[in-house]
Amino acid sequence: MLDTIFKHKELIKRVLIILAFGCCFVGCWKKQVSRPVAFERKTPVQSNQIRVLLHDNIKQLRLTSMGGFSIKDSLMASKAHFGRDTEPLEIIAVSGYVKIGERMFGNGCVVVPDQFSLLSVNGKAYRGEIKLYTLDDGKSLQVINQLHVEQYLAGVVGAEMPSYWGQQALKAQAIAARTYCLYTKNRFGTNQKWDVRRTQANQVYRGVSAETATVKQAVAETRAMVLTCRHRDSTRGIFPTYYSSTCGGHTESSYNTFGEYFPPLNGVVCGHCKKTAQRNYLAWGPVTFTDTEITAKVLVRYPSLAELKKIESIVPAKTSNYGQGEGRVVSFRLIGKDGKDAYLKGEDLRLTLDTTGAKMKSTFCKIKKGKGTYSFTGKGFGHGVGMCQYGAHTMAREGKDYKQILRFYYPTAVLVKH
Ligand SMILES: [Zn+2]
Repeated sequence: MLDTIFKHKELIKRVLIILAFGCCFVGCWKKQVSRPVAFERKTPVQSNQIRVLLHDNIKQLRLTSMGGFSIKDSLMASKAHFGRDTEPLEIIAVSGYVKIGERMFGNGCVVVPDQFSLLSVNGKAYRGEIKLYTLDDGKSLQVINQLHVEQYLAGVVGAEMPSYWGQQALKAQAIAARTYCLYTKNRFGTNQKWDVRRTQANQVYRGVSAETATVKQAVAETRAMVLTCRHRDSTRGIFPTYYSSTCGGHTESSYNTFGEYFPPLNGVVCGHCKKTAQRNYLAWGPVTFTDTEITAKVLVRYPSLAELKKIESIVPAKTSNYGQGEGRVVSFRLIGKDGKDAYLKGEDLRLTLDTTGAKMKSTFCKIKKGKGTYSFTGKGFGHGVGMCQYGAHTMAREGKDYKQILRFYYPTAVLVKH
């Protein structure tokens, strides 16, 4: 009897499995008929490639080329070659499909330049391929530039550091930028179609326009070199080698700023940037906001803080300790009209009040309350974690090499070939 029940159960289980597979198969098949599958969805690229998000949610763009190029769509069903004299092509999304010039492609396609040719998107030239995906609304596009990591770095180093700075500073910058982008790629790239943004949200990338002879040399002479340390995530020791313009006298720990601890990012005393940085980077302010302005900006970015009503007081809740009463504001306490309060990380409040960070340059600051106003006065430019770029510039001018610069700003990190 028991045996029969078991057999029945087994039979029912098998039927259910077959049905489930059948439904899944029919579902997939249906999906393919109604809309092509996404091109290379959620698959990591080869280790020497990086995918840079150029545009997200863009409605229209213009593609030009200095030579010929091919376009292949997601199902490889449509392929076209365009010669070197091709007029600029308008690209839009139509009902979930990519339309390039007069031709329709699938919901994802890749533009591959001919050998020795370059592609330009909206007038900016990039090496490597351009990938285009339609977004779920069917009307907007995501534009990604996929290229070799070393080519990408030439477009970053020249955008993140003046190319006339010393070669040793440029080499330190190349290694920091390489390590940072590989960390970001390994950590986040496997679950999405791109690895890094082209803005300061990751690191600034300007494509071919940022390349100069000195920058290319710095990248080539440090080829494949990265910094590593002992830590626990899955990036084989590669860590986020943050860097920023001017630390103002002391770099900050990654834990205080971003909530993640890495041994080489604990903060160091830096006496270098003050020798070369612009005066308004070393000491800035006062930068003044009214409390109405502050409330509006905070609530736009953090709607959940609406319960504070009007923000009537801002005080540093936690400050790092550089000695002699100095330090960066790690978190701010915001106090609302009825006494309710909330806490924001220092960098989060800074970039909420001043999205570009050009005026309120750092959290290495003091606050002064006026009549309905708050004034911030401070030192340094940028988040202050990792390498201080003006400090690296000074060290290079004083004859230090890139290894000494990196050892100073990322103590205990180990330089290896990736
Ligand atoms: Zn510094």
